[in-house]
Amino acid sequence: MLLDISDLEASGLRIDENLGNLDLEHADGSQVHCRAIRTSGRLLQIQGGVEFQARFGCLADFECCRCLDRFERHLEQDFRLLFLPNSSDARAAVRDADEDAGGDRFAGVDHYPLEGHTVELEAVIEEQINLAFPLKVLCSESCRGLCPGCGSALDREECRCSKNDVDPTTIRE
Ligand SMILES: [Zn+2]
Ligand SMILES: [Zn+2]
Repeated sequence: MLLDISDLEASGLRIDENLGNLDLEHADGSQVHCRAIRTSGRLLQIQGGVEFQARFGCLADFECCRCLDRFERHLEQDFRLLFLPNSSDARAAVRDADEDAGGDRFAGVDHYPLEGHTVELEAVIEEQINLAFPLKVLCSESCRGLCPGCGSALDREECRCSKNDVDPTTIRE
């Protein structure tokens, strides 16, 4: 979603987009299918750049890291970031101007490149969704995972390990 911001009005540009589906990768290597991705917010012209204040919502289909079952969660998050010119000199100038004006637009805010007069929102939103993923993906805090013996998902299947199959070397008196 490439947006031309060359004639952004003082009141900003209202964004209300349906981004459909995205397949993302969790840091643990599992696939996360995100659907019904919606973003609403506002692009605002600031001195030397553009500020994006928005909120995304989506349904994320995760894989539990213990039982490998897939489950869906609703994710929603507010975010704020800046699009700034690519050159570091230009970025520094924008930052200085903001500080001189007593602003704090840069405090703890990520910035993304402003290419000429366009901003690419999809990659940015993709990153924001990624940031909202739980560090450890669990279908439930108490998930017991898979039996190391038979591979059954212990929360929803009967363990198939027969008592007789237990390796005698692991039995202690
Ligand atoms: Zn689980
Ligand atoms: Zn078992």
